[in-house]
Amino acid sequence: MPNAPLDRYGAVTHEVINQPLELADYNLFGGDIALKEAITREGAEWAVNELTDFGARIGAAAYLELGALANRHQPEFDSHDRYGRRIDLVSFHPSYHRLMQTSIEEGLHCSPWTDPRQGAHVARAARFYLHSQVEAGHGCPITMTFAAAPCLKLQPDLAKDWLPKITSRVYDPRNVPVDQKMGVTIGMAMTEKQGGSDVRANTTRAIPFGAGGPGQDYELVGHKFFVSAPMCDAFLVLAQAPGGLSCFLVPRWRPDGSKNPLQVLRLKKKMGNVSNASSETELRGALGWMVGQEGRGVATIIEMVAMTRFDCMIGSSSGMRMAVSQAIDHCRQRAAFGKMLIDQPIMQNVLADLALEAEAATVLTMRIARALDDRATDQEAHILRIGTAIGKYWICKRSPGVACEAMECTGGLGVMEDGPMPRLFRESPVNAIWEGSGNVQCLDVLRAMSRTPETLDAYFAEVSGAKGGNAALDRHIDALRQEMSSQRMGAAGDFEFCARDLVDRLATGLQASLLVRHAPAAVADAFCASRLEARGAHQYGALPQRVDFRSIIERARPR
Ligand SMILES: Cc1cc2nc3c(=O)[nH]c(=O)nc-3n(C[C@H](O)[C@H](O)[C@H](O)COP(=O)(O)OP(=O)(O)OC[C@H]3O[C@@H](n4cnc5c(N)ncnc54)[C@H](O)[C@@H]3O)c2cc1C
Repeated sequence: MPNAPLDRYGAVTHEVINQPLELADYNLFGGDIALKEAITREGAEWAVNELTDFGARIGAAAYLELGALANRHQPEFDSHDRYGRRIDLVSFHPSYHRLMQTSIEEGLHCSPWTDPRQGAHVARAARFYLHSQVEAGHGCPITMTFAAAPCLKLQPDLAKDWLPKITSRVYDPRNVPVDQKMGVTIGMAMTEKQGGSDVRANTTRAIPFGAGGPGQDYELVGHKFFVSAPMCDAFLVLAQAPGGLSCFLVPRWRPDGSKNPLQVLRLKKKMGNVSNASSETELRGALGWMVGQEGRGVATIIEMVAMTRFDCMIGSSSGMRMAVSQAIDHCRQRAAFGKMLIDQPIMQNVLADLALEAEAATVLTMRIARALDDRATDQEAHILRIGTAIGKYWICKRSPGVACEAMECTGGLGVMEDGPMPRLFRESPVNAIWEGSGNVQCLDVLRAMSRTPETLDAYFAEVSGAKGGNAALDRHIDALRQEMSSQRMGAAGDFEFCARDLVDRLATGLQASLLVRHAPAAVADAFCASRLEARGAHQYGALPQRVDFRSIIERARPR
């Protein structure tokens, strides 16, 4: 039968015009000028070709889609199998496993430990930054596995057995005892209901089987309120031993092949970071081996925490970069009121301001990566100590504002769950909260300055490298120096009231000094004018009129 004739007007309602094409099939590294410059400057020029390949591979549309899928299909937990046996199994979508596999094959969990060389941390940080733009949640177990290595090295007998599997490039997600596995992942369990940041209040007990002591067997009894990535093969756990709070390595399976009673109660119902399973867990007589000295648990696990805090800086810098890329790419393709959005003056101001924030985060993160590489020198060790505390606080705190404003740049589309912005937005507060929330980080900056005053000297030595490059920066640093040398540092209690204000200024001073030394004048001048001269009290998009908006946006264009 012939087709019925179409209704003359009804079948075709409209043609879709003035709607952007998805930001996909682009090179995440190749389009990131600030990152490329940082890699070369901070000692990892040798990695440029590999990073270029990696950026192209993970920028493919099909690969970017893995990030969406891993969050749409959330992990599921089964406490028992259908026969009633305890299994504590978390199941993930294949997209999550693909992301984990890439991260492990690329060495995001180990490359500076297995291939130490100048720039190893810088190159690894760049890869982590790029891959987190595809998907941030799976980065949690990758980071914890990476960060566990320096902590475990404190206990050589354990390190001998575990490190080769921790640093293996094989992703082996099977829920089987460690001796059957080609590669393992490591989690960490510190937080308890009544304690949280204050881990001294932890009540989980560790009872020695024999004489006890470093490397020896203990039985752990208690609970943990947050244990992310509960499918890891072992966890670094804080518990109260007879001699005080100590650190333990608790395996998922006992060496005899029986299941260690580290039991997951349920998975957390999270607003963001949903591809990553986080759990509430109980230790019901679980076997654990003491790592480091009895009673020195915090000092031991801090080796791990220092690394995870640095990765929070990378993760938030990465989230901001992706948000800004999305905003610029959208505004480049969308017109309103007779002009492309990217040509509308107010939008130019907003986009340039967002780009400044993202670039400042990237340069600070990569500078701290170099401090990690060079921490054998006193100056770099001090910069690492104070710069990580400052950067973890500041960069992670800036992330939600950038995600929110970038979402608005893309209009109503930005709110739609089938696009990337809601995921970026919901992810954005997480890094600020875990691994030392904002106030705790500010207290850590004060602690670094009072216990090791050389860290402050190192800070001033670092920022003085930009002296004379920008008058506002010179004034900012002089004011900070004067304040620090006054007697106020002595009264630590009083000083806490203004700790956030102080750390804000230390952070913007450090970022500005890096931009003045290394970024084009348009970027550095706009950053100093907006962050140092006109501090706070404005939304994004309030840069002064003299700023070179176009060149700042052009520099940040992802493609
Ligand atoms: C998604 C997610 C996953 C997590 N995964 C893990 C994990 O795998 N392992 C793990 O051990 N933990 C994990 N955590 C826990 C996380 O590290 C804690 O939530 C965090 O350390 C804060 O502890 P808390 O929640 O008990 O808050 P609290 O410690 O009660 O803090 C509440 C607020 O008080 C502030 N505060 C604390 N002390 C002071 C002070 N002295 N002065 C001023 N302000 C202060 C904090 O900055 C914070 O803003 C996870 C958390 C989240 C959200």
